[in-house]
Amino acid sequence: MINGKTIGAVILAGGHGSRMHSSVQKQYMTLGGRPLITYALEAFDRSAADRLVLVVPQGETEYVRSGILPLCRLTREPLVTEGGRERYHSVYQGLKALEDCGYVLIHDGARPLVTGAIIRRAIEGAVSYGACVAGMPVKDTIKVAGEDGCASRTLDRSRLWQIQTPQAFSYPLVRGAYDRLMEDEALQKGITDDAMVVENLAGYPVRLVEGSYENLKVTTPEDMILAEALLRG
Ligand code: C5P
Repeated sequence: MINGKTIGAVILAGGHGSRMHSSVQKQYMTLGGRPLITYALEAFDRSAADRLVLVVPQGETEYVRSGILPLCRLTREPLVTEGGRERYHSVYQGLKALEDCGYVLIHDGARPLVTGAIIRRAIEGAVSYGACVAGMPVKDTIKVAGEDGCASRTLDRSRLWQIQTPQAFSYPLVRGAYDRLMEDEALQKGITDDAMVVENLAGYPVRLVEGSYENLKVTTPEDMILAEALLRG
């Protein structure tokens, strides 16, 4: 709760993690002895968020309730809801499950190393600016590939950020933008994060707030090794 407004959090675990090339779905893979998804859930449970929604793949609600949640050290039971085909479908299901919040944080469950400090900065960003995303300045030089396989140009690194989650918004703002997105399939092409939805469909500026280089998204097998090492550290 902040300034009398409720804070909701949507934690996304509705993907199939195909880039992990594993028979066990990414969100249930073991990290530091426990399923990967438990870490983000615990971080948000300890945060100022009043309501938690966990979005899981279709048909897996029962498995998550009985097989995964008991392994989490939580002070409250999150609402578990089913996601959809693309990430934005899953986000929409999470937003609908959270009617009537003042603010909402949207987080990839595949980022287990999110900290209380990052969540706090995201909440402050949403309250101060209406919309913000966690991110960090890129470390590498970024080039745009041409169709011929050669670098066609080099972007100005001093203004490039790699974007993470949480992404945090005034609830009515992000809900309105997502309602529009869902009405028109043509708008859905190329949508990879929530900030894009708010930028494109609400025309609203999204503030960048500091995340952390450790707040990585576990996507491929080497990310698991990195995350294990960071957790131990
Ligand atoms: O696929 P990507 O790496 O962008 O997924 C980021 C997060 O979104 C992951 O936590 C994944 O579980 C979630 N996701 C989802 N529903 C989908 C696709 C991805 O909840 N249909």
